[in-house]
Amino acid sequence: PLPPRLFFEAVEQSPVAISITDHKAAILYANRAFETLTGYGREEVLGQNESILSSNATPQSVYQQLWRTIQRKETWTGTLVNRTKAGLDYLAELIISPVLDRDGDLQYFLGMHRDATKVH
Ligand code: FAD
Repeated sequence: PLPPRLFFEAVEQSPVAISITDHKAAILYANRAFETLTGYGREEVLGQNESILSSNATPQSVYQQLWRTIQRKETWTGTLVNRTKAGLDYLAELIISPVLDRDGDLQYFLGMHRDATKVH
């Protein structure tokens, strides 16, 4: 069996920004790429809502669609306009998937995103 340490290091060193949140999007874990991309150190984001990454440019309807999807325990993919700590906006290509417990109830959300600004 693969040791848990290997899972941790793989997630930690992933080039994709990865975060794990509670059911209300409060951040419980963020990997190194998350820190690099957003400019926030993980100690600053722990306990904060993912909405700290929100710019004013994403319509409310997109967030509503996102929440409807993930609360149905489905995976949401989409693009949001995020803002770094330094105030720079970037296009975040995001995947949010539910993490269920043994009973099939929502436990955590897994967020993965990359900067899609430079894709053309
Ligand atoms: P709000 O006014 O708080 O919310 C906008 C709308 O979203 C509301 O009208 C409501 O319909 C819905 N909503 C918000 N919170 C909840 C809730 N707890 N339950 C049900 N419906 C709700 N947002 C980003 O902008 N960038 C990200 O990179 C990002 N990553 C995320 C990763 C994960 C794993 C999760 C779970 C969420 C992520 N979000 C992200 C969404 C974020 O948590 C906020 O909902 C979003 O940023 C809008 O926040 P707001 O304060 O601007 O608007």
